[in-house]
Amino acid sequence: MSTIVRLSDVWFQYQHDEQGANQWALCQIDLTIEKGEYIAIIGPNGSGKSTLARMFNGLLVPTKGTVQIADYFTHDENDLWEIRRMVGMVFQNPDNQIVSTTVRDDIAFGLENLGIPRREMIRRIDQAIEVVGLTGLEEQAPHYLSGGQKQRLCIAGILVMQPKVILFDEATSMLDPQGRKDVLQLIDQLHRQGKTVIHITHAAEEAFLAKRIIVMNQGKIELDLPRDELYRQAECLQKWGLEVPLPVQLHRRLRELGVPLTDLIHSEEELVSQLCRLLSKN
Ligand code: ADP
Ligand code: MG
Repeated sequence: MSTIVRLSDVWFQYQHDEQGANQWALCQIDLTIEKGEYIAIIGPNGSGKSTLARMFNGLLVPTKGTVQIADYFTHDENDLWEIRRMVGMVFQNPDNQIVSTTVRDDIAFGLENLGIPRREMIRRIDQAIEVVGLTGLEEQAPHYLSGGQKQRLCIAGILVMQPKVILFDEATSMLDPQGRKDVLQLIDQLHRQGKTVIHITHAAEEAFLAKRIIVMNQGKIELDLPRDELYRQAECLQKWGLEVPLPVQLHRRLRELGVPLTDLIHSEEELVSQLCRLLSKN
């Protein structure tokens, strides 16, 4: 494995107010992410998730400590261009990220200043449209798209830049259930295609789709665990005001009652299918 992101003793404070009383928005963050990982970052509102997100592509630079992406450092201005190409970000509100009047133009927008030959541009755009499932909507005006389609359009605009890391900051929180499901599926697909995925969310059930979960609270990393390990001690999420997903609660309660389910469940569907199998035997 090779490391793609390394944060070393990162501290961050927004501008001091007059009393200089500002809190640290991030404290003592040490974090290493390997190429191809699928990580969720979860935490209550104000815990520093978005501040951390902005560290990954140099939108914010640490007050103290360093952020390294591959061989580049965000505090070195000469590295920023390369870092921003390597780390794509998808935010909460797709409307704020859409700039053009057709789907195709919007996806092309970021590519236009890279000096890429036209044929290569077209190839990348066509491929991105297919990956995000917007085939047939190329000439559509983005404002006619559903929320989920708009968010997938934003993702296509990032894919054409061929980033190594894609970071989603609450990218599903404004979507309806179907739009949310589609985007979550796309996130998983991008991970399986080898992208490094960082998914920031306050929804624990979304976090449990990742392979590794980081819990943040008051600017600190409280936990950094493989998904399955956190699953086994999911109640601890309540300490930080986070919900234990309903399927996780149900699975654990049923096991306590002696229902012979496997000790780990990887999705709601898996729980349902195990229950159906057990019930049909009786
Ligand atoms: P989260 O994304 O987990 O909700 P944020 O990173 O947005 O958390 O916020 C972390 C802390 O930094 C909060 O206390 C918040 O009030 C503060 N903060 C966030 N953005 C700014 C800003 N632009 N200026 C000053 N303080 C900010
Ligand atoms: Mg946030």
